[in-house]
Amino acid sequence: MTQPPGRGTRIAHIGLAVRELDAILPFYRDVLGMAEAPLDDADGARIAGLAAGDSLVELLEPVAPGSPIAKFLDKRGPGIHHVCFAVDDLEATLARCRAAGIRLIDEHPRPGAEGKRIAFLHPASTAGVLVELTEY
Ligand code: ZN
Repeated sequence: MTQPPGRGTRIAHIGLAVRELDAILPFYRDVLGMAEAPLDDADGARIAGLAAGDSLVELLEPVAPGSPIAKFLDKRGPGIHHVCFAVDDLEATLARCRAAGIRLIDEHPRPGAEGKRIAFLHPASTAGVLVELTEY
């Protein structure tokens, strides 16, 4: 079976954990001049998207105590929360991760923001970086 030509793995977005979205948004939007991309809230977080070429910076502010972002902020403070890569074939990529002994947080793709399927990999297997995978 011939595979259609893939687009290759790209950075879809970088998720930043912030305590107050409204306090840091002007830096990215007004100082760095990044266009706002409206995003729905997800996983107990209010999210602002900012375009950086084909990639986004996502500012993640917790709205619910005990949410993943709230826990991250409690433990580590504001900073880079995760990096999301868009891949050509999410199932195949997860299978390769599994075969390579990478610890998966999501064994199977689940619905994420914007109706796309996503899966997270455990930072213990990825040099301390929480990696999210998604499809184009
Ligand atoms: Zn993400």
